[in-house]
Amino acid sequence: MKTKHILKIRSLFASIDGNDILRDLNLDVKQGEVHAIMGPNGSGKSTLAHVLIGNKDYIVTNGEIEYEGHDLLSLSAHERACKGIFMAFQYPIDIPGVSNMQFLKTAVNSLRKYRGLDELNAIDFIPHVKAKVKKIGGDEKLLHRAVNEGFSGGEKKRNEILQMLVLEPKLAILDETDSGLDIDALRVVAEGVNAYRSDTLKDQKGALIIITHYQRLLNYIKPDYVHIFMNGRIVQSAGPELAHELEAKGYKAWAA
Ligand code: ADP
Ligand code: MG
Repeated sequence: MKTKHILKIRSLFASIDGNDILRDLNLDVKQGEVHAIMGPNGSGKSTLAHVLIGNKDYIVTNGEIEYEGHDLLSLSAHERACKGIFMAFQYPIDIPGVSNMQFLKTAVNSLRKYRGLDELNAIDFIPHVKAKVKKIGGDEKLLHRAVNEGFSGGEKKRNEILQMLVLEPKLAILDETDSGLDIDALRVVAEGVNAYRSDTLKDQKGALIIITHYQRLLNYIKPDYVHIFMNGRIVQSAGPELAHELEAKGYKAWAA
């Protein structure tokens, strides 16, 4: 069977507030693959994620991105989400006054509507969400709290994974989801991600990009490819062994 491209990034340059951040970035992601992007703080990893989801603060100044063979940059952020692109934020925002349950149901139905599917009512939706809460080792009570309001750092990160499991994206981007998690929470999050990998990713032939600073998450989620990201571009790509090499040598070994 021929494996198809999910993402094809060619010679991408992007800036924020007039500062060039991404500089000649190239990346290929195919169906079923898990990619880890590792780089020091300030190297532009989050910038890449924001460019992919269509955050308007980030300006693409050159290059091309194809998503499932179509021009991604011509699509709005909403269209990209509807077409299955999801990002778990490094700094999740609070949404006071909107419960997690309302938020998730609205999001799911918005995607279903775009895709020409019937909207789900509460009776269909609630058991679906509760099953996903179990997968992240969460308490059902969190569904009735306002989105991220008063959540600890670790709870916010788990909530991002809950959103991913409920929305079942085709391309999921996890931006430093491991930061702020203690070892037990890290394990639970990794289990959630691995469940997504074995269920959704496989069936929908999607892909996952894990952005991380440290190697430790990759002890639980084994990527197919590891990319070292420095100064706005990928400087080396290899298999999972590259993460161990990085752990041993530090980023300085890749600094120009
Ligand atoms: P990383 O995720 O790898 O830590 P970022 O993509 O967040 O890196 O940031 C890359 C660079 O862009 C940094 O130098 C950062 O200071 C700058 N930057 C990020 N966001 C903004 C912003 N909103 N305004 C100005 N500069 C920014
Ligand atoms: Mg970042």
